[in-house]
Amino acid sequence: MLTNKEFWIGLDDTDSPEGMCTTWLGARLIRDLRAIGYQIHEARLIRLNPTIPYRTRGNAAIAIRAFGDPDIAFAHACSLVNRYADMRCEKTHPGVVVADEQLPSDFYFKAVTSVCTIPEAEELLSKNARAWKGFKLGRGLIGAAAAIASVLPDFTWEYLAYRDESRWKTPRQVNPESLFISEEVTTPYTWDTIDRSQNSVVCVPHSSDPVLYGIRGDSPFAVVHSVSCIRSEPYPWGQIWLTNQGTDAHLLWGKIGSLKEWASYRVIGTVLQQPITGIGGHVSLVIGDEGGELTCMAFEPTKRFRQEVRSLIPGDHIIAVGSFLNGTLNLEKFCLCSIERDEYKIAPYCKACQKQMTSAGVGKGYKCRKCGAKSVSPEIVTREREILTGWHEVPPSARRHLARPLIREKEEHWEDSFQNIT
Ligand code: ATP
Repeated sequence: MLTNKEFWIGLDDTDSPEGMCTTWLGARLIRDLRAIGYQIHEARLIRLNPTIPYRTRGNAAIAIRAFGDPDIAFAHACSLVNRYADMRCEKTHPGVVVADEQLPSDFYFKAVTSVCTIPEAEELLSKNARAWKGFKLGRGLIGAAAAIASVLPDFTWEYLAYRDESRWKTPRQVNPESLFISEEVTTPYTWDTIDRSQNSVVCVPHSSDPVLYGIRGDSPFAVVHSVSCIRSEPYPWGQIWLTNQGTDAHLLWGKIGSLKEWASYRVIGTVLQQPITGIGGHVSLVIGDEGGELTCMAFEPTKRFRQEVRSLIPGDHIIAVGSFLNGTLNLEKFCLCSIERDEYKIAPYCKACQKQMTSAGVGKGYKCRKCGAKSVSPEIVTREREILTGWHEVPPSARRHLARPLIREKEEHWEDSFQNIT
């Protein structure tokens, strides 16, 4: 018998480096369900812990809130996974979950900030889900359950354009000029379509998955407005996703000395040494507090961001933000909270002759060679700092899906000004 009701369905781990994409499968499921009369109330694209080694690319999972028969939807989702998931790949272990209501949010918070196990997911599902199926190891049950458990105190939107199957794995045809125009027309309400600083396109992937491009923004209207400006190969369909991308949902506050591997943090510290540029152009920065020292890295792909890291000097107070992996914090952004004076010592100038003095010998201060005047202390010169206080972030080409771009800060200014008015 048909049961028509509201329900959630989650999917994960269907793709491999050779192809497929869980968002495509989710969008395909949405189209199929709508075609047989289901209502789609919400389509969520949920990014989980970005450091997880099992991920193929961006650790995405899908959750759909729909109205219709949950059991038929579950059976259809499983048949889509059987047909399209890249099961030959040793890293692909799909999961499909159906639940009558959202799953407990603790599981989402753990999956976005930490590491979950398959038995943990199975235990949660056995208590709360209507039906679930793990394929192969069934690791995708973690992401599928976490997506259904997701809570979005902050959220953004992404329009994903999906290529016709006949074009998969062929070069993508998207007019770059039209992308620059679409960004110009909709900024600051969309972001990461292009990287102006490097004159490059960001929103068109290079991998062999079915995505043609993705436009991220503040609202469904902004992303669709942006899409209307883009010229590309014809594509059969796209999907607007509600997402936790660009919200910093993966970040915890951390203290030096107690950071855990595979988690991402905001850490407060003082710069202890001049940053060093190493082999390959990677920049390392050491910060510290009473708990010890922490090495932060700005890798070569973060391009101009490295110059901002290099501009830091000992004594600067910062909030460093990034993932803790192999004992170092890989920087996504930092906030320069208070700026140290960049001072250095020189031999003083003679007040009478206006000439610079020279050393009078070790420990003997300075002496004017012209009139013989003496000074015990050097002159302190302050160099102008090249960096301003506030936030500094990696360019769009190096940004994590979950990292909140600084362009979104405008919303806070709106809220501030709104509060001032009311
Ligand atoms: P794409 O973004 O292209 O869809 P992906 O990067 O999402 O691919 P998946 O193929 O989904 O990668 O692989 C990620 C795997 O890691 C999934 O099986 C997912 O359930 C699991 N996973 C996600 N978050 C966690 C976590 N916090 N702890 C343990 N496993 C996780």
